[in-house]
Amino acid sequence: KVEEFYQEEKGLELYRRHIESQRRMKPHVLSDAEERLLAAAGEMASAPGNINSTLNDADIVFPEITDEDGDKVRVTHGNFIPFMQSKDRRVRKEAFDSLYGVYEQFKNTSASILHAQVKQLQFFAKAKKYNTAIEAALDVTEVPVSVYHSLIEAVNKNLPYLHRYMEIRKKALGVEELHMYDLYTPIIEEADSKVSFEEAKKTIIEALRPMGEDYIRILEDGFNNRWIDVYENEGKRSGAYSSGASVHPYVLMNYADTLDSMFTLAHEMGHALHSYFSNHTQPTIYSDYVIFVAEVASTCNENLLMQYLLKNTTDKKKRAYLINHLLENYRTTLFRQTMFAEFELMINTKAEQGETLTADMLCEMYRELNEKYYGKDVVVDDKIAIEWARIPHFYYNYYVFQYATGYSAAVALSNRILTEGESAVKDYLKFLSGGRSADPISLLKIAGIDMSTSKPVEDALKKLGDLLDELESLI
Ligand SMILES: [Zn+2]
Repeated sequence: KVEEFYQEEKGLELYRRHIESQRRMKPHVLSDAEERLLAAAGEMASAPGNINSTLNDADIVFPEITDEDGDKVRVTHGNFIPFMQSKDRRVRKEAFDSLYGVYEQFKNTSASILHAQVKQLQFFAKAKKYNTAIEAALDVTEVPVSVYHSLIEAVNKNLPYLHRYMEIRKKALGVEELHMYDLYTPIIEEADSKVSFEEAKKTIIEALRPMGEDYIRILEDGFNNRWIDVYENEGKRSGAYSSGASVHPYVLMNYADTLDSMFTLAHEMGHALHSYFSNHTQPTIYSDYVIFVAEVASTCNENLLMQYLLKNTTDKKKRAYLINHLLENYRTTLFRQTMFAEFELMINTKAEQGETLTADMLCEMYRELNEKYYGKDVVVDDKIAIEWARIPHFYYNYYVFQYATGYSAAVALSNRILTEGESAVKDYLKFLSGGRSADPISLLKIAGIDMSTSKPVEDALKKLGDLLDELESLI
């Protein structure tokens, strides 16, 4: 019948993908009465997530520590990572013990909340006739479950790279034991680091030249026409993001004249131009994009900037800093997020097998994962076993793996652009212009990246060998 409608009314053809994506869900749509019940249960289903964020954001209080200057400072979610980056090891350890000590006190409560979360996912997955919660979650954006499994498999196979990075980190820090609170502190100081906003814009334009004239023209348009709110200001929110595109994209920055800020600017302009291209190419109904592809455009820009800087930097200290920055991206995006993804799959599987997620069980699983990922050169402190209680993403329903897949796709794309040139750029621009006109795996295939295989992840990881060799010799 619908096919007949398409024939009769040619204007419907535009909406074919949209209509088909609704019809695709037919096996998972229940009777009116059943759907009404499920909808009514929705608010209760969000309770575990709400309780967890209330506990974390409002109620939990961490003890004070003594900072580098000898002042008493209370540990908060906001200053925890800056403390972990401190050069003073005593400060790092005190902050680590302060934060996780409190989480340990609430470990049974945290386990109960997480168990409730997993159970509600399972309830809705089963009700909607999916076998598992992961099937239900990934079906929403049409990502095959095999993508998830092959990510975990590929990263596991390449864990020796992370182990070697930890070995180098241990040597560079000159510590006898590398603890979990030694992972964030920089091993190379940011050398001669001032990068003004004007300088950053110029450098980014040069670094993104391989993207071709069209891309650069729009990028410059954004730089010159106040798309960006640049500096920190009173009452302005922190961080950085890009939003909207109907007039043009807007970008919020808290630019701080550092190299890291320059990378953030390249990142956000990647999102902005992705939105720009999709908005100008696609009809409104397909003009936005799904999260699986969102971080590809931003990270691809960061990679192109990194390759450009490495190509034009001979100063040893600067090179070491850049390589370390890149390795930290790998550690935190590809390895750490995959570890989270693995944990998420483990807890869901346990619950689906009818087991109750107890605090001891969760801590043991989490601890073992840390041991596996970081290897023998890292002392996996007891307290890290409770880290899962601090991570809000375990309430995001199979979300985090997309950071790792997006990162891998971006590495593959930037390499293709730099080695193949024009033809690769043409394909990439088609991807950027694609919005949600096709499923994410098909969109990435247009850009020459096949995420249905583990090749992009494997290729991204393979780059690590050379980087580790160079960092080790530079140190
Ligand atoms: Zn982003």
